[in-house]
Amino acid sequence: DQCLGEADAEVCTIIDKEKQRQFKSLELIASENFTSRAVMEAVGSCLTNKYSEGLPGKRYYGGNEYIDELETLCQERALAAFHLDGKKWGVNVQPLSGSPANFEVYTALLNPHDRIMGLDLPHGGHLSHGFMTPKRRVSGTSIYFESMPYRLDESTGIVDYDMLEKTATLFRPKLIIAGASAYPRDFDYPRMRKIAGAVGAFLMMDMAHISGLVAASVVADPFEYCDVVTTTTHKSLRGPRGGMIFFKREPVLGVDLESAINNAVFPGLQGGPHNHTIGGLAVCLKHAQSPEFRAYQNKVVSNCRALASRLIELGYKLVSGGSDNHLVLVDLRPLSIDGARVEKVLDMASITLNKNSVPGDKSALVPGGIRIGSPAMTTRGFTEREFIATADFIHEGVQITREAKKSVSGSKLQDFMKFVGSPDFPLMDRVSD
Ligand code: PLP
Repeated sequence: DQCLGEADAEVCTIIDKEKQRQFKSLELIASENFTSRAVMEAVGSCLTNKYSEGLPGKRYYGGNEYIDELETLCQERALAAFHLDGKKWGVNVQPLSGSPANFEVYTALLNPHDRIMGLDLPHGGHLSHGFMTPKRRVSGTSIYFESMPYRLDESTGIVDYDMLEKTATLFRPKLIIAGASAYPRDFDYPRMRKIAGAVGAFLMMDMAHISGLVAASVVADPFEYCDVVTTTTHKSLRGPRGGMIFFKREPVLGVDLESAINNAVFPGLQGGPHNHTIGGLAVCLKHAQSPEFRAYQNKVVSNCRALASRLIELGYKLVSGGSDNHLVLVDLRPLSIDGARVEKVLDMASITLNKNSVPGDKSALVPGGIRIGSPAMTTRGFTEREFIATADFIHEGVQITREAKKSVSGSKLQDFMKFVGSPDFPLMDRVSD
């Protein structure tokens, strides 16, 4: 059998280029990380060859004796990594990623067009929590269910729980979703539990962004208050690209969560599990129980705080005024610059982060903020000192962006992008890598 380089030089070269890009850039996208060589070995293994529809011991294909052993081990490690008693909680490790995991929960617990409430996307929520615009139901979640998002209090940048309570009392959702893609603070689970209880709703937490922090107990524990917890496995948890759904074993609101969720995953929405991913996940979940992993997650948080403090020293406005987790959200609007332009200029200097809307934003394409995360560079050994230097680099990039914006005639984003991309961009030497 040929190795990749012999079999397909084109793909091999692209992978090499991507590897170099990852190696040389400052990776600050809050949802990304570098998984371990051991995880990648499992993901690139013969496990990808096997069909195993069903669950351990109950498969629709033969030859699954080792796959059963693997999936059972993965489930046990998932429960152990999140400090859960297997009598009270179960887990499905087959979801292909975070969005399918969420949709699987919705179809398990709800009927089509039942009502849900998740954090609005422009305020930090995820598409799969029911995003829609006044013109369009954007996400499948808002097409198949009736979505009424809750929002932040724009003056504090914190979830407006009073408004959530009032709206939930009127809207009477069947499901309330905690969790976010761009929220620098913890959720108030006891308060959300109370609201869900009062209106007879299930409470789900999508801990995708913070699952590593939850496993290491450096943020509040959603399992104490929620009925269902979903997660991706490739963000702060530092595993392969995948998803998991944890569910209470006892019935909730008359629903047997275990069978409803397992059936929603297969045969409801998926076919054969990605056993190579489950193999990689098992490796990640073993590591997630180690003292070294806990130390890493503590550093993710302290590095993020150092970054936040330096940005504040430099005069930046952070949504909610700081961070309790792995990300900061910078509001660039007071500087009359936007996240799209800053993202582009920083990208040219191999600083990778993303434009992000901030509360009160008008446009999602040219939003007023940037999101910066600490998990990936902490994996690569950055300490607080390097994160402080990173804040200074970002600051320089913002200054360059502001100067560049002044040199472009017209205010169109495309004109700006063309200008900074051209070789006669006068600040090219300052941003080129
Ligand atoms: N949930 C949250 C909170 C997320 O931030 C994301 C992705 O960023 C997802 C779900 C979706 O995960 P995936 O991209 O794996 O579908």
